[in-house]
Amino acid sequence: MINCILIWTGKLISFMISSFNLGTGATWPGHIALRINPLFIKQMISKSKLKIIIITGTNGKTTTASMLTHILYQNGYKVIQNSSGANLLNGIASTLIMSASIFGNLKGDYGIFEIDENVIPKALMQMNPDFLILLNLFRDQLDRYGEIWSIADRWNTAIKKLSDKTRVILNADDPQIAYLGITCQKQTAYFGLNEKHNHIEGEQYAADSLYCPPCGQKLDYHIQYFSHLGDYSCKVCGFKRPLLKIDQCFYPLVGAYNKYNTLAATSAALEMGLTESLIDKAIQSFTPVFGRQEVIDISGKRVQLFLAKNPTSFNESYETIKKLGANLLCISLNDRVHDAIDVSWIWDVDFEQITQFRHISLTGDRLYDMALRLKYEDCTDLTMYPNPRDAIDEALLNLNDEETLFILPTYTAMLDIREILTKKRIL
Ligand SMILES: [Zn+2]
Repeated sequence: MINCILIWTGKLISFMISSFNLGTGATWPGHIALRINPLFIKQMISKSKLKIIIITGTNGKTTTASMLTHILYQNGYKVIQNSSGANLLNGIASTLIMSASIFGNLKGDYGIFEIDENVIPKALMQMNPDFLILLNLFRDQLDRYGEIWSIADRWNTAIKKLSDKTRVILNADDPQIAYLGITCQKQTAYFGLNEKHNHIEGEQYAADSLYCPPCGQKLDYHIQYFSHLGDYSCKVCGFKRPLLKIDQCFYPLVGAYNKYNTLAATSAALEMGLTESLIDKAIQSFTPVFGRQEVIDISGKRVQLFLAKNPTSFNESYETIKKLGANLLCISLNDRVHDAIDVSWIWDVDFEQITQFRHISLTGDRLYDMALRLKYEDCTDLTMYPNPRDAIDEALLNLNDEETLFILPTYTAMLDIREILTKKRIL
């Protein structure tokens, strides 16, 4: 009964937040529900028939969750998903509240939840997933999360406590993730890339984890796709990339990082029993979600957002827009709680060829830090705008009809810019 009251109250709160234009109500209903009943998520899930899929990792959670939702939806399944990217426990609880009937029932076949990497141990105490997808671990928000091996350690402890029904789907190309597959004592399926022509030469400056998880020696990389993702082995202890169950599929989005997201979603759908042809057919109609390569039309002018929230995601977004022939670039750097209060990570970004852009505008709370960073790349032809609206307006004036304005924002900067462009809030 208490959960029914929390659901009614939550729906009312969400309605009021939306009505008074105070946001989308994606977190407050869940926040209140969990304060009153800390076991709300556990109780709601355990009395439903939903099969639960949890997706985590530093980069790619939202895209992978949306792809998997799209594949299942296209194949006739009903899916509940925290699609607004509210990936803490209050976001999960809010999703359950908004999806539940007034009698407190959750109707659907699958519950797909992307969950913040730091929250995984707590989330797994509330939910014993049928499928757990582990994407990658990069350095991100060191002030909040710590180094990647400490997160991997906490994940390992939490995963071991899950029941045997959980099947873990892992990125074999990330050594920390692959090692978790060996130590977690669960059923596993690995995905990864096998591409001879699409890799980097030498080590990337922002590579995060080139050392062997079991013994600490430097790994030998036979192929490195980006950062520390690739095909590797250790001369000392024999640890090596596990055998891949899947290494190719249809890719609907550009960028090496999106190949991994697509492989993860495809791999999970295969484990759920869908056939390759049904998955490929469904994924062909997938379109990018908010801020992740999302294209927005502003009075006939084309703007594309590439979320760039840590060194690896910035490097990969930047590489991708260069390949797309970008001439105009807008970078927006914020330092709020959901970005990283410490913005020193921008010194790990590789800004090769930055001087070749015709116009670069900078905005965001820490635009002057970014200007200083780019000065060290001999890039002084910048325009700085304390107000992001001015940055976008000016950049659009400089844009020719056939060109695209590429915007690289951090997470909260993306929310701000998206609100300016679409007049809609996500969170
Ligand atoms: Zn080793």
